[in-house]
Amino acid sequence: MPETIEPYGLLGGLLLLALALRTLVVLVVRSRLSARQKEYRAYLRTETWKRLRRAAVERDGRRCRLCNASGALQVHHRYYPEVFGTETIDALTTLCGACHEAVAHRDRHLLGWLTVLGRFR
Ligand SMILES: [Zn+2]
Repeated sequence: MPETIEPYGLLGGLLLLALALRTLVVLVVRSRLSARQKEYRAYLRTETWKRLRRAAVERDGRRCRLCNASGALQVHHRYYPEVFGTETIDALTTLCGACHEAVAHRDRHLLGWLTVLGRFR
C-alpha cells in the first residue's frame, strides 16, 4: 500500500475549516452591518427624522448639551431603536460637532456619570 501524503494532518485540516468558518461569519456580519447603515442613512432623509431632530434641538435650547456651544449643532442618538423612526425624543441629545466627535468615540462610563450629574441626557 502506497504511503499517502498528508501535508496538514487532521489538526491542520480542522484549523483550515475553522479559519474558513470564521471568514464566512465575518462576511455575513459585515453585510448585515452595512445593510443597517444604509437603512440609517435613508432614515436620516425622512420627515420623521427631521421633525424629531428639530424637536430635540428646540428642547435643548439650541445648544450643545455638553459644552453649551450654539453653532454647528448635531443631534446624537444616545441609543438606536431596533426600527428607525420608532425612537422618541428621549433617545436624542443635541451636541456640537466637537462634542459629537468625542461622544462617537465614547466612554460610556464617563457619559453615564455625566448623565447622573445632569450634564448630559
Ligand atoms: Zn459641545
